[in-house]
Amino acid sequence: MQQVVLIVRPEEAKQLEAAYRVVRRSVDARQKDIKVNLTLLADDEGHYIPIDAPLPHYEQPHFQQVTSDSPVAYIVGAGPAGLFAALTLLEHGIKPIIFERGKPVSERKRDIALLNRNEAFNPESNYCFGEGGAGTFSDGKLFSRSKKRGNMQRVMELFHHFGAADNILYEAHAHIGSDKLPRIIQNIRECILAHGGEIHFEFRVESLAFRDPCPTILAIGHSAHDTYRMLDREGVALEAKGFALGVRAEHPQALINKLFYHNQPPSVVNLLGNASYSLVTQVNGRGVYSFCMCPGGHIVPAGSDSDGCVVNGMSASHRNSPFANSGMVVELHPTGTALDALDYQEHIEHLAKEYGGPNAQAPAQRMRDFVEGRDSTTLPACSYLPGLVPSRLDQWLPEPIGSSLQQGFRDFDRKYHGFLTNDAVIVGVESRSSSPVRIIRDATRMQSVSHPWLYPCGEGAGYAGGITSSALDGINAALKIAEHYGTTL
Ligand SMILES: Cc1cc2nc3c(=O)[nH]c(=O)nc-3n(C[C@H](O)[C@H](O)[C@H](O)COP(=O)(O)OP(=O)(O)OC[C@H]3O[C@@H](n4cnc5c(N)ncnc54)[C@H](O)[C@@H]3O)c2cc1C
Repeated sequence: MQQVVLIVRPEEAKQLEAAYRVVRRSVDARQKDIKVNLTLLADDEGHYIPIDAPLPHYEQPHFQQVTSDSPVAYIVGAGPAGLFAALTLLEHGIKPIIFERGKPVSERKRDIALLNRNEAFNPESNYCFGEGGAGTFSDGKLFSRSKKRGNMQRVMELFHHFGAADNILYEAHAHIGSDKLPRIIQNIRECILAHGGEIHFEFRVESLAFRDPCPTILAIGHSAHDTYRMLDREGVALEAKGFALGVRAEHPQALINKLFYHNQPPSVVNLLGNASYSLVTQVNGRGVYSFCMCPGGHIVPAGSDSDGCVVNGMSASHRNSPFANSGMVVELHPTGTALDALDYQEHIEHLAKEYGGPNAQAPAQRMRDFVEGRDSTTLPACSYLPGLVPSRLDQWLPEPIGSSLQQGFRDFDRKYHGFLTNDAVIVGVESRSSSPVRIIRDATRMQSVSHPWLYPCGEGAGYAGGITSSALDGINAALKIAEHYGTTL
């Protein structure tokens, strides 16, 4: 077997993809003449492998049946880090016992529907908390900026094993979609339970004084501020870390297609799928960048407490809404304690709530009005279901966030003329793009430096960001526990 790399036009790419087994695909839209990079699998004579041939071999997971006699590890949090840790423990014959504050995914869906309709907010069951963690109703973009942390392909293979489509094994920017993720998460749960693991839903861990102490993976995500505060009270070593905060910007998708596909006709856009972007600039030595861009997506209310207003973005597998949204965030470098950083983040979320509505309505301003310091008397159509309230974000977003974003939008417009437009709206606030806190751990053993039986991992520990790297961090933490028990396969 060999891999053949081709750089072809979108029409040709479509034909090749329909006929042959692709192992990698990416779109290069930097020039007007858009190209698709395709890597095809071929036999030793160079004949491409047909699409209906079996998938290239990969190692199928082998989960062991665990019993009450098996070594045990606790896991706090059933997000990507916690679930992938549980699967890895099972591969090593260790019984995972998971505690998750939220509900199983099907019940969680109902709470999210109520939230989107402004009917109720459940602080324990929302876009952040519940089975699958913040990853369940996310966009499901499966890539990570870091290639250093280990076997990313293994994460993709496990997602595929539990029901993700074949393309996640080869797409450069693989994407599952919020409509498909819940079923995959449910399949993972069923596997954990079938092999003797335990999952306790609606179980919030409020103390570290366990009756039967054992190695414990802390995979709490970065939204559980109450849990961070509990850890601080219990003397767990925490520190503030750099994070990013800003707004979510939404344009009509047709405009983004025009700007980033260089005015290609709809026939070409249809072949390529809706355009996405990744933008970055420096303002006074501070990074301002787009984050978690969702083509054909929706802005969603992603807060975890009723006093704050937080937004994020997601998209379904087809990415076919008429809107393109992205976080637009500014790098911050807190100098105080971990709790100071949480307080600052909450302060801005509370401001957004004050200027938004009584339920999940979010404060918003047209993009050019924001940059030029004007009221938006009307707002454009927007994907955000709970609704928007016109607000002067240019006046209340604290420095350096407001002015850095204003300059950032001007910079992006210089490169992609038309990006800075009043057809776009900015919605506040995108405050949970990364964790402001690190639960300090030993670099080699992955144990908390203050509590060696704790294995902080995932996004909430401050060592990962996004689904893939959090899942991988969970796998690595579980491998350390397997070493501890001497059960390395
Ligand atoms: C709307 C949205 C869209 C996103 N889109 C993407 C995307 O496209 N691609 C991407 O890579 N990332 C995306 N993300 C980020 C991604 O979801 C997170 O990076 C990832 O889920 C982090 O995984 P984790 O397991 O570390 O933490 P989480 O997923 O946050 O899971 C932590 C879990 O711990 C539970 N928990 C917390 N405290 C306790 C406690 N005291 N007791 C018991 N349980 C507790 C929580 O309920 C939660 O279920 C998105 C996030 C959101 C909100």
